[in-house]
Amino acid sequence: MTNSKQRIDELTKSLQEYNYQYYVMDNSLVSDFEFDTLLKELQALEEKFPEFASENSPTKRVGGDVTKKFEQVIHRYPMLSLSNSYSKEEIIDFETRIKKLTNDDIEYVCELKYDGVAIGIQYIDGKFYQAVTRGDGTKGENVSTNVKTIKSIPLKLRGDYPQDFEIRGEIFFPLKNFERLNKTRFENDEPLYANPRNTASGTLKSLDSSIAAERGLDCFLYGIYGENIEIDNHFDLVKKAGEWGFKIPKEETKYIKKTSNIDGILDFIDFWDVERKNLPFEIDGVVIKVNSYDNQNRLGYTAKSPRWAISYKFKTERVSTLLEKVTYQVGRTGAITPVANLTPVQLGGTTVKRASLHNADIIEKLEVREGDTVFVEKGGEIIPKIISVDIDKRPSDSKPFHYITNCPDCGSLLQRQEGEANHYCVNDTGCPVQITGRIQHYISRKAMNIDGLGTETIEVLFEQGLIKNPADLYELTFDQLIPIERMAEKSVNNMLAGIEASKQIPFEKVLFALGIRFVGDTVAKKLARHFVSIEAIMNADFETLIEVDEIGDRIAQSLIEYFGIHENVEMINRLKSHGLQFELAHNEDATDKLKGLVFVVSGVFDKFSRDELKKSIEDNGGKVSSSISGKTNYLVAGDNMGPAKLKKAEKLDVKIISETDFIALIG
Ligand SMILES: [Zn+2]
Repeated sequence: MTNSKQRIDELTKSLQEYNYQYYVMDNSLVSDFEFDTLLKELQALEEKFPEFASENSPTKRVGGDVTKKFEQVIHRYPMLSLSNSYSKEEIIDFETRIKKLTNDDIEYVCELKYDGVAIGIQYIDGKFYQAVTRGDGTKGENVSTNVKTIKSIPLKLRGDYPQDFEIRGEIFFPLKNFERLNKTRFENDEPLYANPRNTASGTLKSLDSSIAAERGLDCFLYGIYGENIEIDNHFDLVKKAGEWGFKIPKEETKYIKKTSNIDGILDFIDFWDVERKNLPFEIDGVVIKVNSYDNQNRLGYTAKSPRWAISYKFKTERVSTLLEKVTYQVGRTGAITPVANLTPVQLGGTTVKRASLHNADIIEKLEVREGDTVFVEKGGEIIPKIISVDIDKRPSDSKPFHYITNCPDCGSLLQRQEGEANHYCVNDTGCPVQITGRIQHYISRKAMNIDGLGTETIEVLFEQGLIKNPADLYELTFDQLIPIERMAEKSVNNMLAGIEASKQIPFEKVLFALGIRFVGDTVAKKLARHFVSIEAIMNADFETLIEVDEIGDRIAQSLIEYFGIHENVEMINRLKSHGLQFELAHNEDATDKLKGLVFVVSGVFDKFSRDELKKSIEDNGGKVSSSISGKTNYLVAGDNMGPAKLKKAEKLDVKIISETDFIALIG
């Protein structure tokens, strides 16, 4: 018992340190694998001894706590916003005014204006207490469960922190993670998010904290509020907060700078107006603050904002151009995306020809028409977007815009389900773009990865009437293909060989390749592992489906709809008859010799790769765990195994066996 408590404390402490080093200091002390192993060990221990688990345990970072409704919290210190300025003249006026009011040599601190969501986090006795959004400035929402998943935010402080204080900053979506999120959504044929800030805000307000954990938000903290704080100026206090374990803007990165004159301020503005394009996150301006707290107090506040600070907003590069025509793209699941075709224009160093209009609601809100002159910005420097219409330039013969009612490809009536922003073409068995889109998805690299077949070839084969669904691929013959233009003998043979080889692709990939809505590669893997065969998935009802880990209502419904369509079932039967894998590979040597036994595998082996060894354990009915705990029966030890693991196995009396012992075990 006491050992477990000790171990929990130990793990909590070292994981906190690794987290801090990695997310705040950019310093990696252990491998990801090692980190995960320790985290899992802690999780297991906490499950067993919840009474020893710390409120602010690193395991809280993985999310999973679901909030019913966010509690309203009144700010102890009102959360004011800064007054904005858009020109350097205003900044010069600000600086002159400050000098007059204080008659002092003034120091200023220049900082970045992060384009995110403002947050105030209270710490009591060095422990994360609560995180509250700005709200209306007087009261905000307690979003602690989500904020705790942000790994750069400490749950426990270090050093000589004040007993009770609040630190404020900005939570944002790192561009890399935002792009990753949209990429996944694109692959799953879900509508893309338009900009990182709104998505960060939406993420913070999601009730299920695992969403926040998965998306990878980040945060800079720099405003400290509390009693009995001994440091008398902003710049030094921010630095100090860094010692307490916060991710602060650092002087070395030029995210923060101290200066005593207007030239220094203007230099900072000019520098970042250019450099901001290279930042891994978005900023929309800079902030200038009077450094000394004495001076801040002397200057005081207006009703809405402090007199001792001002923000300078960068001009977002905006150009106007003609919206020539709205066209529509049909995705493989029938989702319609309207696209604005623009007269090409230079914007932020690239030529912009098209902008997404997302859906009918957005078009309606913009009141945009074909032939309008529109203002275009690079929303978050990623996807160009139409901001507004230059009404003065609207031609006199302009006609109101009507969203299409029928599919641009097959002509069938579009539908829009309640709660869906997008229109859909539901003619999934007859709509050419959907048909080719699905086959293109089927052969794609992440799915069946068929060599010798490209997206254009699919279109040609479809036009020739040779294929209508993936099953048709397996009936193509050399004699059918060779007469087609630009098909040489060699490429035909390659293609046929690639198609033949795809019959060996494992079930989970085949399931993903079918292109069922919301069934991305991860979901396909989950389903395959859980149900083992396509029959079991097809026979599962809604309740059975949602019982599976991470399978929600939406996915379950989509599966039921897919298998409810006769043509889909027929196609699957044909694929089966051609020898495609619709069952998880069954191992002939499978036994239940290891039933009920838990194994941990560590090190390097002669006869097996680590994955093969794990698979062999599972094939024989055993369980593989990634960390050693009281439940572990055997540690299969190879070369170069970590000494910590060995020590722990000894400590917990886990049997340590070699590869040879293992082979003997399974006979
Ligand atoms: Zn259609």
